[in-house]
Amino acid sequence: MVITSAVTDPEEQTQSLHSTFASRYVRDPIPRFKMPEKCIPKDAAYQIINDELMLDGTPRLNLASFVTTWMEPECDKLIMASLNKNYVDMDEYPVTTELQNRCVNMIAHLYHAPIGDDEAAVGVGTVGSSEAIMLAGLAFKRKWQAKRKAEGKPYDKPNIVTGANVQVCWEKFARYFEVELKEVKLTEGYYVMDPVKAVEMVDENTICVAAILGSTLTGEFEDVKLLNELLTKKNKETGWNTPIHVDAASGGFIAPFLYPCLEWDFRLPLVKSINVSGHKYGLVYPGVGWVVWRSKDDLPEELVFHINYLGSDQPTFTLNFSKGSSQIIAQYYQFIRLGTEGYKNIMENCRENARILREGIERTGRFNIISKDVGVPLVAFSLKDSSQHTVFEVSDHLRKFGWIVPAYTMPPDAQHIAVLRVVIREDFSRGLAERLVSDIVKVVDLLDTLPSPLSTKKAHVVAVANNETSEKAKKSALETQKEIALYWKRLVDGKRVGAC
Ligand SMILES: *Cc1c(COP(=O)(O)O)cnc(C)c1O
Repeated sequence: MVITSAVTDPEEQTQSLHSTFASRYVRDPIPRFKMPEKCIPKDAAYQIINDELMLDGTPRLNLASFVTTWMEPECDKLIMASLNKNYVDMDEYPVTTELQNRCVNMIAHLYHAPIGDDEAAVGVGTVGSSEAIMLAGLAFKRKWQAKRKAEGKPYDKPNIVTGANVQVCWEKFARYFEVELKEVKLTEGYYVMDPVKAVEMVDENTICVAAILGSTLTGEFEDVKLLNELLTKKNKETGWNTPIHVDAASGGFIAPFLYPCLEWDFRLPLVKSINVSGHKYGLVYPGVGWVVWRSKDDLPEELVFHINYLGSDQPTFTLNFSKGSSQIIAQYYQFIRLGTEGYKNIMENCRENARILREGIERTGRFNIISKDVGVPLVAFSLKDSSQHTVFEVSDHLRKFGWIVPAYTMPPDAQHIAVLRVVIREDFSRGLAERLVSDIVKVVDLLDTLPSPLSTKKAHVVAVANNETSEKAKKSALETQKEIALYWKRLVDGKRVGAC
């Protein structure tokens, strides 16, 4: 490929001859792991990186992710214009700070926080739900510790109760902040936390029970209302006062618009904090999340830092210091541009496209649908018959059509179930849904004509076993079976990434 140099300044031209980067830069490999000694012209740097990035997947065809891949050009303009603003410079960018505070208040009201119209909500913008969850978890841990200290009881063994279907950030929280993660195991056919079992696991060291509104694996909402009921009863009996956090990373912008009567938020008294990803159904590009607390009493004062902002006090509670402002500005754009009407329309559209896709997949007759009708708009499905081919092969073959559809196994105790998942975002249109169904049909038809990797492996193992001359090395039928099982386990373990 030829680069047409934009350099016209004669001095600059003599410094760097760069009419073609094919001859100049590709012949001279770009060092990958050490910073190069010499500089290169800006257009060559651009071209080289741009070309390499062409091999990335196309974000809009990435059906693995909940994260926003399209925004209106007007918002793109606002984002570009604020790329150089540091969010933490609140004194210098007071308007950006004000927009963040407005977003926090809008979200707190959306979740029915018990605050008056002229009262400020308690919450903060974060990089995503992961940071939001670290902060919420930390607040629970501190509150629990303070209570235990005051009671003169040991406070060195905090635990948190969740379903085994939690997103990895909860495991991170547990490890980083030294809290034991007590997971309620799943069962075949029931892929969310069972509130009865969760409440049974609660003890005096439980800092909170975390419920998920929109399980990452199946989109299903956990029954927060029942959890609140059961936990209230247990709290009465024990005097522990164990609170609830709702991880509404994906469902926090679905439930208020599609299921306004569903009680999962601050309408339930034990729900003390909620996180949501602005970059999922909040409809902003990656880099924004939110955490809101029920009231000031639920966020220990010792965790809050106070920044002088235009002579007045701006409380902050984040893990980072500097970061960009554009995502906060973009979130505010979406809130005022769409309003509840706009969000409702978009979410209804997503639900409708999920329905079309689900029905198309059902019509093939080859898959079981695992996701529920009520929940985050996604379709999770497993193969009815995995004796010849697996969902991992379906996923691989769909890549050839450009689709990125992840396949993964369920967490314990449902790890023998492997599923495919398609997340329906705003930019996944009905036309694309129909197209995807026809490509899935092509893939299963193709797989029918291909030999099963399982039988190839079996034949190989049997052949190896038969060729062994030593009697001792001869494999029994059971050993052969075990080896095949191990082969599958390795294959599955190697591919268990992609659910984000
Ligand atoms: C996506 C997700 C997270 C992590 O959110 P990020 O915004 O990507 O940090 C946490 N919990 C659930 C349920 C999620 O779906």
